Amino acid sequence: MAALPAPQISLDLRGRAAGQWRLKDGVEMLRFNPDAFVQDWHAHFPATVAHEVAHSIVYRRFGLRSVRPHGPQWRGVMAELGFPPVVTHQTPLTGRRSRVYVYQCKCQSHRLGPRRHHLIKQRGYRYACAECGGKLEFHDQVEWREQNH
Ligand SMILES: [Zn+2]
Ligand SMILES: [Zn+2]
Repeated sequence: MAALPAPQISLDLRGRAAGQWRLKDGVEMLRFNPDAFVQDWHAHFPATVAHEVAHSIVYRRFGLRSVRPHGPQWRGVMAELGFPPVVTHQTPLTGRRSRVYVYQCKCQSHRLGPRRHHLIKQRGYRYACAECGGKLEFHDQVEWREQNH
């Protein structure tokens, strides 16, 4: 097999996976979840990097023919690289969560993001309901919004 170009590397993975190897239009991509590395650097560097690099090596050696993702070929490469063949990680990744602040006017509740909440609390901004004209009041009600990509 002719030498393949190096995989593309990106740090845009979200959700529960710490890393991902994928092939898209013939181009390999190694994607990593920055939240995993922020939460537990030592668990993921270099083990998660090795995990994904091993997928790339398996692809380069064996192609895509009947190779299970974490099968014997992959485990063999991990052993060559000097890593245990760990498939799952222990970092509690929940995807991206963001706070939502629940405000009330006279007619309904309004869900504001952190930026507008900050402007109201720290800068004294006022927001009125477009329907009843009432001022939005905050009663310490916070929700979480999952942002899975
Ligand atoms: Zn894998
Ligand atoms: Zn209203």
